[in-house]
Amino acid sequence: MPPANNIPGTSMLSTRRPGNPAQEATELFECYLPEQAERLQRRLNGSAWQRLLRSGAVAAARQARAETPAEPAPDRLAADHLIARNEAAARARIAAGERDRESLLAILARWNDSGAADVPLPGLSFLGLCLTWACNAVPKCRYCNQQPTARRMRLAHWKRVITRAAESGGRPYVYMTGGEPLLWRERLYGPDGLIRHATARGCPANINTNAFLLTPHVAIQLVASGLAKLHVSLDSADPAVHDRLAGAPGCWQRALAGIENIQIARELLGVDRPVVHVNCVLTRENARGWPELVRLILHVKKQRSAGHQGSRRGDPVFRELGAHLIPVGGPQNAALRLAADEIRRFHQETWERAAAVWDEYQEETGVPPGERVAFNDWAFFASAWRRVAHRGTLAEYAAACVAGEYARLALGPRCHIVPTQAFVLPDGSQYWCGAHYVSRPEPVGNVLESDLVGNIRRSLPQVAGFPGPRCRNCATATLFLNQGIEKTLGAKVEAWIKEAESEAGPSPG
Ligand code: SF4
Repeated sequence: MPPANNIPGTSMLSTRRPGNPAQEATELFECYLPEQAERLQRRLNGSAWQRLLRSGAVAAARQARAETPAEPAPDRLAADHLIARNEAAARARIAAGERDRESLLAILARWNDSGAADVPLPGLSFLGLCLTWACNAVPKCRYCNQQPTARRMRLAHWKRVITRAAESGGRPYVYMTGGEPLLWRERLYGPDGLIRHATARGCPANINTNAFLLTPHVAIQLVASGLAKLHVSLDSADPAVHDRLAGAPGCWQRALAGIENIQIARELLGVDRPVVHVNCVLTRENARGWPELVRLILHVKKQRSAGHQGSRRGDPVFRELGAHLIPVGGPQNAALRLAADEIRRFHQETWERAAAVWDEYQEETGVPPGERVAFNDWAFFASAWRRVAHRGTLAEYAAACVAGEYARLALGPRCHIVPTQAFVLPDGSQYWCGAHYVSRPEPVGNVLESDLVGNIRRSLPQVAGFPGPRCRNCATATLFLNQGIEKTLGAKVEAWIKEAESEAGPSPG
């Protein structure tokens, strides 16, 4: 096993004497702003990291690191399947003179709804695993709306689910949540854990965490496991606000420390994965602080990948620490929900203040004017209001949000993506998607009793009824995919009509 001082940038650490963090940081953390680089160096000089370096665990992790699989394109998987399956039928209707776009789209978008055992499916694009209901946030986050079930799934069961999903023909993004998934420790990030199990099968893995357990040892294991993304809960730049929402003092410090440990681990292992994102639950207590959260993120994030040659926007860490603003859900959280006028103010005034923070940051960090990016582009996945198209004004969107139906105005006529998704709970029950795991209609099956893909196939007749009443809080990412697929299919229909008309030539007379 190579000694710790064979790792670039750590040679001074094996014989550490407290030095000047500002000088030391220039080597290993050169892709961070100076203040963050110094913070990271100070943390690295601390006893926890030094012990780990002396143990040889960092060098061992570097050698055993799994490659992070490339991200799949879930929209292409569904769209290509539908086109391959239904093109002939749609073109035949066009040749017969049909010009009604809606009827033609309905034909092109049809999943085989017989539920027969031999129905071809394209495979999975997304596999959500709620590994545990257990959580180390004590007492608990104020907005937590978990509805626990029995716990029946064991490590071998979860592995079987991942294997089955990977064999299904897609390369699903495996998203692990809870509760707190890091409580699964070695079973999650160890040599025989779920992340490596997914990664070895070409499936990028992601975990959602409060970061309390993100010590140096865990951070090194996570980076070495090939984890693609890490979503850390961070609700505010103000520790008091975050801690009030998280239910206990000290949560903010732990979240920031966890993020820093991942950043250090990535540099020690010489990689940019996992990319860290922030999950921010939007409530009336933290909404006004969004610009300050943007400021914090921009000063803590990695600024660029070492050696990246392409555009700034194309850098894998360009959107590091990008925040997903998740409107607070659940009927019990009505008091935390923004009122209609607060929602309007947030998306107008508060958003503009955040955009000004972004502009200042680009100025301060010397981004050349020609390379500057608009705030809405950098933060494009932050806000459901901006990321997807809604049928209605901001006032109408605000009214839907007040009713706790954030997605209602963005749902299209069809759900294209859901037959490529699955979400499994600790009791083995399988739901169509993340939104249904919260709204809990009848599950499509139970993976302890029947096959993951067979459950989807058997339940396909339901898809014609989606979106339905349980879909009003469909996830923003899913709305985005569905809207994109609808456009792709619409463009196909237009192209085929044009083609048919040009082949027919000018009409007589
Ligand atoms: S919530 Fe409804 S529309 Fe959204 S992915 Fe699930 S089934 Fe489809």
